[in-house]
Amino acid sequence: MKALLVAECRQGRMADSFPELFGFAQSLNVEVSMLLVGSRDELPAFDGTLYFADAGEYGEYSPDLHKRLVLDAFEVEQPDFVVFMHTSYGWDLAPRVAATLRLPQITGVTGIDADGFMTSCCNGKMRRIVTPSASRAVLTVQPGAFPALSLGGTPMIRPLTASAETSVEFIRYEPPSTDGIDLTRAEVIVSAGRGVGSRENIDLVRSLAAVFGGEVGASRPVVDAGWLEHGRQVGSTGQSVAPALYVACGISGAIQHLAGIKGAGFVLAVNTDREAPIGEVADLLVIADLAEFLPALTTRLTSP
Ligand SMILES: Cc1cc2nc3c(=O)[nH]c(=O)nc-3n(C[C@H](O)[C@H](O)[C@H](O)COP(=O)(O)OP(=O)(O)OC[C@H]3O[C@@H](n4cnc5c(N)ncnc54)[C@H](O)[C@@H]3O)c2cc1C
Repeated sequence: MKALLVAECRQGRMADSFPELFGFAQSLNVEVSMLLVGSRDELPAFDGTLYFADAGEYGEYSPDLHKRLVLDAFEVEQPDFVVFMHTSYGWDLAPRVAATLRLPQITGVTGIDADGFMTSCCNGKMRRIVTPSASRAVLTVQPGAFPALSLGGTPMIRPLTASAETSVEFIRYEPPSTDGIDLTRAEVIVSAGRGVGSRENIDLVRSLAAVFGGEVGASRPVVDAGWLEHGRQVGSTGQSVAPALYVACGISGAIQHLAGIKGAGFVLAVNTDREAPIGEVADLLVIADLAEFLPALTTRLTSP
């Protein structure tokens, strides 16, 4: 079986996620080719065919032009799967490709099961297994779900050229607002999840973070509830962090949150549910009510 992996380029650089596409392909045990609209100064290392178009000519994103390039590579390669990362690039481009090719699309793949592809639903609360209804499919892969794999090697480059009427013009990328908060340099982050239960309980998290001289982070529901600023959100649509110590308080461990803490050193999780998925990545899972455990830990750390 063959997969055409579609890499992406941001502001002159290949997006960091492309090794995860290789990790996914390895899990699927398929032969790979890759497509990149990018710069010749930075090409992926692997042994296989690289369909390449210059971003200087085709732009880092242009829905119609990039779709045309993917379709041209598809025609030559005849892959079983066309695979994008589940990023804004993949969100926009994959359905266009799937619709034109009249192929099924499976969105946000988090794992591979003997029966099909795993995706999450109900805001990460449930996992489902999906099987494409055709022998070929377009897939988007959830960032953080598969290991980043460095393959090494030298690709055989096949230049692509295409033209297409463009109905949508790409203007620019705008970095997400971090409200001036930079969690990426913090040595310790204590993060609040929905399990804190109320705005008032954020103070428990703040107090523990203060003991460590660390920063306060948050999962998305806490930010959505307005209990903490968006700049404190950790995860695939928040910041990616790499502290020596990450304390997850009342956080279940949804894949979108875990994507942001892949670089963390020691992960301590406090959760009432011993089956919470955060337990799969935590170095230490404390099964406790955070309203009791956090003040006790803070007091213990501050008492002489
Ligand atoms: C496109 C997309 C992008 C997303 N991006 C992000 C992102 O960047 N960051 C992010 O975090 N999420 C993101 N999400 C949301 C994500 O899927 C989860 O819904 C979210 O991470 C869940 O947050 P949570 O763990 O705080 O809440 P929940 O999943 O509700 O978990 C709460 C946890 O608290 C525990 N708990 C409850 N009470 C207590 C208590 N008293 N003491 C201790 N533990 C307790 C529960 O057992 C549970 O495990 C995204 C979702 C989508 C669809």
